[in-house]
Amino acid sequence: MNYHQYYPIDVVNGPGTRCTLFVSGCLHQCRGCYNQSTWRVDSGQPFTQTIENQIIADLKDHSIKRQGLSLSGGDPLHPHNIPTILQLVQRVREECPDKDIWLWTGYIFNQLSEIQREVVNYLHVLVDGKFEQALYDPSLIWRGSHNQVIHYLR
Ligand code: SF4
Repeated sequence: MNYHQYYPIDVVNGPGTRCTLFVSGCLHQCRGCYNQSTWRVDSGQPFTQTIENQIIADLKDHSIKRQGLSLSGGDPLHPHNIPTILQLVQRVREECPDKDIWLWTGYIFNQLSEIQREVVNYLHVLVDGKFEQALYDPSLIWRGSHNQVIHYLR
């Protein structure tokens, strides 16, 4: 898996102060996408074990109180990204049980594949659906268009 950005301190993508990772790779091609540079799976840079370890260390760092991890992109549920994302969310749940995990995807919750649902099992919140320009509303929080749904899973 490749990624574009990792922010160890982020207050925009989800509630509270968070770690946020923007991964590479997206098949949805939404009109009006704000992040087209992330569509190719080989864009950005490799997501290494070092970065994974850094995320875990940042979540465990008590000098800054973080509420959790946000995974966006690109699409973290792109088939190419699933093995790495699955490993990451498993580690966060195991090693940082007090943190929540939010994930944004262009896929629809009830149309996910078996392996995508395996990732979702570890999430606290899934924000789903493609960005629909006609349904765009800047007053929405944590989603861009009205068709997208914030699923609170636990
Ligand atoms: S799902 Fe997100 S990253 Fe992918 S095309 Fe749509 S808006 Fe862009």
